[in-house]
Amino acid sequence: VSGAPHRPHRQSVARIAADVVARAATAEAVTRAALADIVNGESGPGRLNAVISYDLEAAVAAARAVDGRAGRGDHLPLAGVPVVVKDNICTSDLPTTCASRLLAGYISPYEATAVRRLRESGAIVVGKTNLDEFGMGSSTENSAHGPTRHPADRTRVPGGSSGGSAAAVAAGWVPAALGSETGGSVRQPAAFCGIVGLKPSYGRVSRYGLVAYASSLDQIGVFARSVADAARVLDVIAGPDPRDATTASRTPEPLAPCAAPGPLNGLVVGVPDEYFPDELDPGIRSACTDALDALRQLGAHVRAVSLPHTRYAVPAYYVIATAEAASNLSRFDGVRYGVRPAGTDDVYESTRSAGFGSEVKRRIMLGTYVLSAGYHEMYYGTAQRVRTLIVRDFDTLFRDGIHLLFTPTTPSPAFAIGEKTDDPYAMYLSDIFTVTANLAALPALSLPIGRSAGLPVGGQLLAPRWREDTIVRAAAGIEAELAL
Ligand code: GLN
Repeated sequence: VSGAPHRPHRQSVARIAADVVARAATAEAVTRAALADIVNGESGPGRLNAVISYDLEAAVAAARAVDGRAGRGDHLPLAGVPVVVKDNICTSDLPTTCASRLLAGYISPYEATAVRRLRESGAIVVGKTNLDEFGMGSSTENSAHGPTRHPADRTRVPGGSSGGSAAAVAAGWVPAALGSETGGSVRQPAAFCGIVGLKPSYGRVSRYGLVAYASSLDQIGVFARSVADAARVLDVIAGPDPRDATTASRTPEPLAPCAAPGPLNGLVVGVPDEYFPDELDPGIRSACTDALDALRQLGAHVRAVSLPHTRYAVPAYYVIATAEAASNLSRFDGVRYGVRPAGTDDVYESTRSAGFGSEVKRRIMLGTYVLSAGYHEMYYGTAQRVRTLIVRDFDTLFRDGIHLLFTPTTPSPAFAIGEKTDDPYAMYLSDIFTVTANLAALPALSLPIGRSAGLPVGGQLLAPRWREDTIVRAAAGIEAELAL
C-alpha cells in the first residue's frame, strides 16, 4: 500500500500533511481517494453503514481551498488529511442527526470548535458517522440508521457508541476520525476494531458543538491507526475555548513529540487487580501479558495495585449519566429542536414518543427517577459519593508513585450483532473497564495489543489528569515493541 499513488489516503496523518504541504500530493487527490473508498464501502450488501452522510462536491471544494492555502505557505499541520466526524458533533454543511429520528435532517447553524480547528489546520471532513442514538450504547446498534458492521467480520458489532468512526478508520477509508466519550465510546470501539482511541482529560478539548449526553463525563476523542497520528490530531483540537467554560484555560503542551518511541526507564506502571477478573477472556489476558512484557523490555517497572471501588463504577456511572441525560435531552421537545408530528395538540409527548428510540427512553425514565423528589439523595447523591471514592482510589495510587495504569480495554472482543440487544445490563457491562476514566476525568488510551480468536484486542493506559504525555510515550513504546 505504502506509496501507491491511488491510495494516498492510506498513508499516516503526518505523511499526508507533509506531502500536501510540499506539493508532492494534492488535498484534492487524497480527498477523492478517501471518498471513493467510502462510496464503494457503503454500497452493496456488504456495506458497513459506518458513514451516514457525505457530500462529494463540498469535500472536493474544501480540498481545493486547502491546496490553495498550501500553495501560499499557510501553517497546515493536517493539510489534506481526510477525516470523518461522529454525527453528534455539529457541522454546518452536513446534517447532525445523533442517529435519532428526532433530529432527522437537522443541520446545525454553527460548527463544533473541534471541527472548526480541524478545518483551519487543513483537514477535510469527508463524512459524518453512525453512532448509538445520542451516544447511548456500546455497539452502534441503537441507531435510527440501522447498525454499523465490524469491518473484519460483518456479523459482529464494531463497538459503540462511536462505532461508525472506528469502523471507517479500521477499514482504511480515512486515517483519523473524531468520536465522543461519556463512558468509553472511543476506547471500546477502538479496541473492537483494532485501532488507537484516545480520550483526553476532561477539559482538554472543547465540548462546544458536541451534543450533550452527560456533561460532566462527555469529551471529544480521536481515532487513528497509530499513536503518533492520534497525538497529532488531538494537538490540533485541544486547548482553551471561550465558548466552553469547562475547557482548561491554558494551552496544553503538544503531544506529537512524545510519540517517538524511546526507553521508559523510571516509569512505574500499576496493574490493578480488579481489571483482571476470572471471567476475563483468555486471549485478552495473554495479550495483556505481552503488552506488559513490552513495557518491562523498555525499562518500565510493573507493579500490582488495587482500585478497590472499581466494582461500583458501572452502577454509579449509569445513575449519573442517565440523570444528566434526562436533563440535557429535555431540549428535544418539538419546539426548539425536533420534528413535530402534524395535527397533534400535545407537541412534547408526540415529538418525544415518535422521535426517541427505546434505549434513549429507558435512560430518560431512569434519569428522571433517580432525580425525583424524595429519592434523589438515595440514588443520585449516593452515586456522586461513589464517584468521589473512585477519584480517590486513583489519587492514592498516583500519589504513591504510580505514573500510569495498564488494563484491558474490554472484558471480551467484539460480540455478535444482536447478542446483547435484549439484555441492557449485559450491554452496560461491556463498559466495565472504561467508565472509571470518565468518572475521574482522567486521560485514557486504547491501543491494539494482539488478537483473541482472530479478533482485535485493546490494551488501555490511564494516567493522572493532563498527563496525556505519559500515555502517549508508553503507548508508542508498546506499539513499536509489539509491531503487530
Ligand atoms: N456505553 C456507554 C453508555 O451507553 C458509554 C457511551 C459513551 O461513552 N458515549 O452510556
